[in-house]
Amino acid sequence: MINVTKTFLPPQEEYNAILKRAWDNNWITNRGALVKELEVKLSGYLGAPNIIATTNGTLPLQIAIKALELKGEIITTPFSYVATTSSIVWEGCTPVFVDIHPDYLTIDETKIEAAITDETSAILATHVFGNPCEVDAIEAIAKKYHLKVIYDAAHCFGVTYKGKSVFNYGDVSTCSFHATKVFHTGEGGALFANTEELNNTLFYHHNFGHKGALDFQGLGINAKMSELQAAMGLAVLPYMEMILVERKKVVDFYNEHLDFFKLKAIKIRENTNWNHSYYPVVFQNEKQLLKAEKALNEQDIFPRRYFYPGLNTLDYVSHKTMPVSDIVVSQVLCLPILFDLRNDELSLICTIINNVSKNF
Ligand SMILES: *Cc1c(COP(=O)(O)O)cnc(C)c1O
Repeated sequence: MINVTKTFLPPQEEYNAILKRAWDNNWITNRGALVKELEVKLSGYLGAPNIIATTNGTLPLQIAIKALELKGEIITTPFSYVATTSSIVWEGCTPVFVDIHPDYLTIDETKIEAAITDETSAILATHVFGNPCEVDAIEAIAKKYHLKVIYDAAHCFGVTYKGKSVFNYGDVSTCSFHATKVFHTGEGGALFANTEELNNTLFYHHNFGHKGALDFQGLGINAKMSELQAAMGLAVLPYMEMILVERKKVVDFYNEHLDFFKLKAIKIRENTNWNHSYYPVVFQNEKQLLKAEKALNEQDIFPRRYFYPGLNTLDYVSHKTMPVSDIVVSQVLCLPILFDLRNDELSLICTIINNVSKNF
């Protein structure tokens, strides 16, 4: 069986050797040596100075909204994972959807200004599939209207844009280290702030507001990463270069062998050092997509309709038609992109998809 993704598991003895340190310390959470070491290593690897490791990639979104004291309306994308929208609603704010760009699939920055009202407090956009938003235009809009900017950068491990880590854009960026992501700690994630002051606020928020054992600084919640999660991260990190190289090979294969006469691939923004985190293809219509999906499933290959459904159709938001996103959502399929996919497997996937689109 070939799934859309596969978790990279490091050699078990390497993982155990790191875990042993937690045993030796008799310390498995509350910011032990392993979490601290992982933060330092990730900060260096990514080139992101302010990092806080967290227990997943969703709480960071909620904490960012809280820390920036956002109220009212938050402009966001309909084309992302549900956590992007649910975090806004969970924090008592209202998501206002702005359509996406048909090629980049990120929020269409040229449509943001028209959605701004007196109630707008921020823009929460997703660097979807690791493809950066037009961050400069978004920053200019945010400055002009005094809005905060949060990036859901869950897909962006290792991505750089215009020579710096994509996590360094916006007021806060968040990442997910879920087992299905490019880099993982089983469950896990991170917060990245663009100032030290904001980093401090996020830090207190993620640990109950604790300032030492007996003192508190403001409201907090528990989003701490455990030592057990950090051990997985420390064991996976040395393999990241290999993983990224192998993923690029898969993407190159698809790019070379898929018939783009009738299919559309995502366009990666210029000046991006991409991480090849996903391989979305957009079919000409939903019927074609369903036919390809069925043909792949029959060969035990399971791509994923990612993202589906559009977040503008969730039952707890007010629905609004998004002409581009609504179409993309119905026609996009993410193809398997594993670090160890063989060429014969890739060939089979390409042949099946090309046959379906040729005969349509
Ligand atoms: C995976 C993901 C999240 C949530 O991350 P978790 O670690 O699963 O909580 C948020 N946003 C996007 C875009 C994601 O893909």
